[in-house]
Amino acid sequence: MTDSRTAPHLIVIGNGMAATRLLEECLALAGSLAPTPWRITVISAESEPGYNRVLLSPVLGGEQSEASVVTHDAEWYRSRGIALICGDAVVAIDRRRRVVRTASGREETYQRLVLATGSQPRRLDCDGADLSGITTFRDLYDTRQLIEASRSARAAVVIGGGFLGIEAAEGLRRRGVSVTLIHSGRSLLNRQLDPEAGALLQKDLEKRGLNIVLQARTAAFLGNGRGQVRAVKLEDGSQITADLVVQAIGIVPDIRLARSAGLACRQGVLTDDTLQTYDPAIYAVGECVEHRHRTFGLVAPLYEQARVCAAHLMELGHRRYIYRDSPTRLKVSGVSVFAAGEQQGDTSLVWRDPVAGHYRRLWLDGNRLTGAVLYGETSGGAWYEKQLGKDISRWRNQLLFADRLPASAAEEGLA
Ligand SMILES: Cc1cc2nc3c(=O)[nH]c(=O)nc-3n(C[C@H](O)[C@H](O)[C@H](O)COP(=O)(O)OP(=O)(O)OC[C@H]3O[C@@H](n4cnc5c(N)ncnc54)[C@H](O)[C@@H]3O)c2cc1C
Repeated sequence: MTDSRTAPHLIVIGNGMAATRLLEECLALAGSLAPTPWRITVISAESEPGYNRVLLSPVLGGEQSEASVVTHDAEWYRSRGIALICGDAVVAIDRRRRVVRTASGREETYQRLVLATGSQPRRLDCDGADLSGITTFRDLYDTRQLIEASRSARAAVVIGGGFLGIEAAEGLRRRGVSVTLIHSGRSLLNRQLDPEAGALLQKDLEKRGLNIVLQARTAAFLGNGRGQVRAVKLEDGSQITADLVVQAIGIVPDIRLARSAGLACRQGVLTDDTLQTYDPAIYAVGECVEHRHRTFGLVAPLYEQARVCAAHLMELGHRRYIYRDSPTRLKVSGVSVFAAGEQQGDTSLVWRDPVAGHYRRLWLDGNRLTGAVLYGETSGGAWYEKQLGKDISRWRNQLLFADRLPASAAEEGLA
């Protein structure tokens, strides 16, 4: 960003999607500032430069190459004067001296620090949890391990019927592994979809060859006597054979470093609306953050945090973070799912085409649209998302297909 060795030092810990977006935002703002205020160093525990974590699912499924998901290679940092240290986790922050120390013993002094340490995958703590063959799906390292394991695995169990679990299960299936997806809920994606859409999804995934077991809770992992997993035992006593197990049961904000540095944390690192922590020299962005009692698991809010935080780091101070709900999409090719808003209100409107496998449900509170689930044909999703919270009384009779009305008429009625 600036060549000057005398410029104050900004250190970013973590080089995930929130961190790289923060750098982009800082660079964009710096374009209009002269001289640029910071010398920047990014310190990452992972050995690879920046990549798009969201696209690890198509990489696992063999639909995209590893190279295609790299977003910020080493040259990107070099050419912008940003120092990048990879494969060397920060192990301590001395807030009094304003120094960070890495695992290799390197020490760096900062004037401003940004925590962008993301999340850790949640892991089950039951008998057999330390057997080999039990893994998670979070980063490029996990993805490589899973691809390697899929070459010899005969049967895999994926635990968790949320987005990540379904994408992991489908990716392994595409690689020729026999996969059972187990889920504790009554239907797949039960946080995003109503039971009817969840059942349609289940049917489509089963047609492809996935075995799906609902209302299944893991009691223990059973070994083969040589330290390798051989089965997952469920609470009802049944066993599912598996020499590979993927746990996709949620994430936990990675606050280990923040907590050990004495920063105020609850589930995540506490920040105010400017993404500043309780230490004015330290900011936090991404999944490690807790903002107004909320933690995060999708990229859209992290990008907005990065935009706000950059404005404060660049000493412009003209933005504040406000949470906005973001829709979620499943990245399984050939399966289209859209969900936005809340599945609550005083009524819901439903349309289904069982032959085509298409389904729509819209929730209304009075004449306000509160939520939408589309299955099979989801091109109208973005349009419904825009109408959330708006008065649709004039268009109520056509609402189930209002996304297909000529844009001007629909916008006029729903604006
Ligand atoms: C397979 C997969 C698919 C996904 N699909 C979607 C999707 O379709 N849509 C969506 O919105 N979201 C999706 N997500 C979630 C999305 O990827 C995350 O919300 C986002 O990547 C989080 O960004 P982050 O920068 O906060 O954390 P991360 O990307 O996890 O980055 C944190 C980085 O900090 C590093 N770190 C941690 N501690 C230290 C330390 N002490 N020193 C140095 N470095 C450290 C970590 O190693 C990591 O590289 C998906 C996630 C996965 C795993």
